[in-house]
Amino acid sequence: MTLAARYTEVAVTLPVAGRFHYRVPTHLAARTQVGARVLVRFGTRKVTGVVVRAESPLPEGIKAVDVSDVLDDDVPALPPELVELCLWVADYYEAPPGEVMRAALPAGSGIGARQVVALTDAGREAAGEMGSALPAKQRAVLAKLAQGDLPVAGQPKGMKHVIEALISQGLAEQRDQRAKARARLKRERVAKLIVEVNDARERVGRAKKRLAVVEELAAFGVPMTLAQLEQRVPGAKTVVRDLAKAAIVDVFEREMHLDAVAIGADMLVIPPPVLTDEQAHAVTSITSAFGGAFRPFLLHGVTGSGKTEVYLRVIAEALEQAKTALVLVPEISLTPQLAARFRARFGDRVAILHSGLSEQARLGEWSRLRRGEASIAVGARSAVFAPLANVGVIVVDEEHDGSFKQDEGVRYHARDVALVRAQRAGAVCVLGSATPSLESASHAEKGTYGKLVLTQRPTARPMPTVEIVDLRTYVPDGDALLSAPLRTAIGTTLAAGDQTILFLNRRGFATFVLCKACGHSFRCPHCSVSLTYHRHSDRMNCHYCNYHQRVPEACPSCKAVGAIERKGLGTEKVADAIAEAFPTARVARLDRDVASGAKVEAVLARVARREVDILVGTQMVTKGHDFPGVTLVGVLCADTGLNIPDFRASERTFQLLAQVAGRAGRGDRPGRVIIQTYRPTAPAVVAAAAHDYAQFFAAEMTARAELGYPPHGRLIAVRIDGPDEHAVAGTAQRLAKLAEQLACRPDIVGVAPSTAVEPERSTPVVEVRGPVPAPIEKLRNRTRWQIWLRSADRHALRRVARGMMFAVDHATNGIGSNLRVSLDVDPMSAL
Ligand code: ADP
Ligand code: ZN
Repeated sequence: MTLAARYTEVAVTLPVAGRFHYRVPTHLAARTQVGARVLVRFGTRKVTGVVVRAESPLPEGIKAVDVSDVLDDDVPALPPELVELCLWVADYYEAPPGEVMRAALPAGSGIGARQVVALTDAGREAAGEMGSALPAKQRAVLAKLAQGDLPVAGQPKGMKHVIEALISQGLAEQRDQRAKARARLKRERVAKLIVEVNDARERVGRAKKRLAVVEELAAFGVPMTLAQLEQRVPGAKTVVRDLAKAAIVDVFEREMHLDAVAIGADMLVIPPPVLTDEQAHAVTSITSAFGGAFRPFLLHGVTGSGKTEVYLRVIAEALEQAKTALVLVPEISLTPQLAARFRARFGDRVAILHSGLSEQARLGEWSRLRRGEASIAVGARSAVFAPLANVGVIVVDEEHDGSFKQDEGVRYHARDVALVRAQRAGAVCVLGSATPSLESASHAEKGTYGKLVLTQRPTARPMPTVEIVDLRTYVPDGDALLSAPLRTAIGTTLAAGDQTILFLNRRGFATFVLCKACGHSFRCPHCSVSLTYHRHSDRMNCHYCNYHQRVPEACPSCKAVGAIERKGLGTEKVADAIAEAFPTARVARLDRDVASGAKVEAVLARVARREVDILVGTQMVTKGHDFPGVTLVGVLCADTGLNIPDFRASERTFQLLAQVAGRAGRGDRPGRVIIQTYRPTAPAVVAAAAHDYAQFFAAEMTARAELGYPPHGRLIAVRIDGPDEHAVAGTAQRLAKLAEQLACRPDIVGVAPSTAVEPERSTPVVEVRGPVPAPIEKLRNRTRWQIWLRSADRHALRRVARGMMFAVDHATNGIGSNLRVSLDVDPMSAL
C-alpha cells in the first residue's frame, strides 16, 4: 500500500518572493509543523526555511523535492499566530516572507547549511602518495584538504581553479555541511514521573534510594534536572536509570533553562504610587476593554505625566487574567530605567529583548517567552515578533519615534505591526506619547482609537517654562554656540548645583570642513554629503559609509596653505568649547560616536548619579530620561532639522523640542528651557515652546492636507539606485511613465513593460510624483532616485506599485543587473 505523498509549503530565508512546495518524507512528517524551521534544497544550495502550511496540495506542473531535514525538535520555532503575522507583514510591505521570518527569529539562532569541499577516497589516497604526478599547486591543496574540509564560499579565484581541477579528477567533491547556529542553548537532562505517585511507591517497594527519588520527583511536580536530583539524593543518577528501565520515570534532554538577564540600572523596588485621577481613569478605560475584541488607545500624556505607571497597572491586570503583555520601546540602551522599572515590578516574569545583549542571552530571553516562563516581553522594534502566546495587551511607548520604522531590508513599522498583531489576537493596544504622530493623533480625533489624556505631572512639578532666544539678535559665540542668555542660565544652574542638558540637533548638513581662501568644502567621494570633522582623531568622516581622511595642510583645490577651517556644529567641538567656557563644570557628551550601548548606559548612569553637570548631546538626550537633577535644558539651534527636505521635518522638530524640554524640572525644583533659533516664528518652534500640541496638530494637519501627505493620503516610495547615474535616471524616468499609465488604470496588474497601456481615466486615483533624485543623491557610490506614489485608496496604490515591480521583475532589457528597485510602504523619510 502506498500512502499519498504529503507536501508542505515553505518560506525560505532568501530575498525571493513566494513560498515553495516540498515533499515531506515519512520520517519527518510529525515534526513538519507550521512554524518549524526546515532545511531545504533551493537551486543548487541548501537553505533554511520556515514551514508556513504543514500540508498543502502540490500545484499542477510543479515538481517538488524532499524536505532535507527539520531543524526544530517537537516545538516549532515560531508559534502559528506569528507565522500568520509574518505573512501579513510580507504582503503589506512587499517583502519576501522568509526575510520577515528571519527578522522574527532571534539573531544568530539560524542553522544554515554550507557547502564544503572534501576529499574523496581517491583524493585521500593521492594525498598520501608522496611522489604523485600532480602539479605542485594541486598537491598543496590536496594536503590542505587532508587536514580538513574547506568552505566553498570565500575562496580566492586561484584556489577555486585548483579545487575545480581536483573535483574534475574525482579527487575532491562538494558536500553539504550543517553549519551550527552561533547562538545555542545548552541542553540538560531531566527526569519526571510517568506513573501515578502511589503506583510508583508500590512498585519500588522497599528500595530506599528509589523511593527517595520517587518522592523528590513527586514533590517537584515538573521535570527535574538530574543535577538537582543528585544534590538531594546522592547516587540518584544511577537509580533514575533503573527507574526509567522500569517505565516509572522518563529521562529526556531539553534546552537548559536560563535565568533572566540581569539589567544594569539599579533595581530599586519602589512601592506602586497612588494613581492620579487621570491615571486611574486611563487604567480603568484600558482594562475594561480586556477580553473583548481588539481595541486601540492613544495615551497622550505630557512628558513626566506617569504613562509608564499606567502601562504597569494595565499589564498587572492582564497577568491577573492569565494573559501576556508586549511592550515596545524605541531603544532600550537609551532607557535602561524603563526596563529596570518593569523588572522591579514584575521580577523575572519580564524578558528583556535588547540588542545590546549577547546573542546567547537574547536567545535565552526569547526561549523563556517561547516556553511561557516569562509573560512580559520588553524590547525595541523587532520585539513586535516576540513569541508570546495569548497576548492581552501591547504597549508601544513613544509611539511617534522614528526608530520603530526599519529603513532597510524589510521596511516594517513596528507600531503598525503591533496594531495588526493586537487586532489578530483580540488584544488591547496602547500607543503612548507626549508628542503623538500625526497618524495616531488623527485616529484619536476621529474616534477610531480611544483617546486618553494625562495633562498633569503627578507630583507638584509644573511643566518647565520655555524661552525662545532669537539668534539673529543674540549672536552665539563661535564654538560653544551659546547666546548670552543661555550662557547666563548655565552659570546660574551650575551655581545652584543643578544639572544642564544641551541639545544639538545635528540632523541636517551643518558640520563641515572648508577652505577659507576658495570656499572648497570636503565631501565624501562616495556619498553626496559633507564630511564631518572629528577633533579627537583629527579626521573627517562620512557618517553614511564610514569613509574617512585626514585634513590636508593645503587646500586640494586652490593649494592655499593654512586656510583650511574646521567648521561646524559637531557635539564634540561644542562639548570642548563648553568645557572651556565653564572650567569648573564636569561635561559629558552623548551621541552616536559614543558607540556601544554599554558606554551609553555608563554616561546615563553618571548623569543619574549627578557626576555630570552639563550633558551635551544629539537626539539621544531627548529620549525618555527621568533625571530629577536637571533643571535647565538648552537647545543650541532648533532649526537645523527644519531645513531638511522632508515632509516630516516640522513634525520631527516639534517632537524633538517638546521631548527635550520635557527632561527639565522632573525633580523638586522647577525646570527652565531655552530654545535658540534663527526662525523664532516657525510653527514647530512656537508650538513646542507653548507646550501646545493641539496648536501644532491643527497647523500641521492643514499643511499636510494641501499636499495630500499622510495622514491624509498614503504613500509608497519607489527607490531606484545603482552605480551608473545615467542608467538610474533613465530607469526612474521609464518607471515613472509606467506608473502614470498604471495610475489611470489601477485595475491592471502585471503589465509587461513593452505593452503600451491606454489611459482610461483622465483623473488618476494614484498620483505619481517624480522621478527625482533623492535629497542624498549619492550614497556609498550608488546614485539614488525616487518616485512617490500617493493616494487615498490603499488598494489602488498597491496595484500601481505592484505593477511597477512586475515590470522590473520581467524586464527583458532596460533594467540593468546592478540596478535595484525597492518599495518603501508608508515611508518615514524622504532622504
Ligand atoms: P512618562 O512616562 O509619562 O514620561 P513617568 O512614568 O516616567 O512619566 O513618570 C514620571 C515620574 O513620576 C516617575 O518618577 C514616576 O515614578 C512618577 N510617578 C508616576 N505616577 C505617579 C503617581 N501617581 N504618584 C507619584 N509619582 C508618580
Ligand atoms: Zn560616504
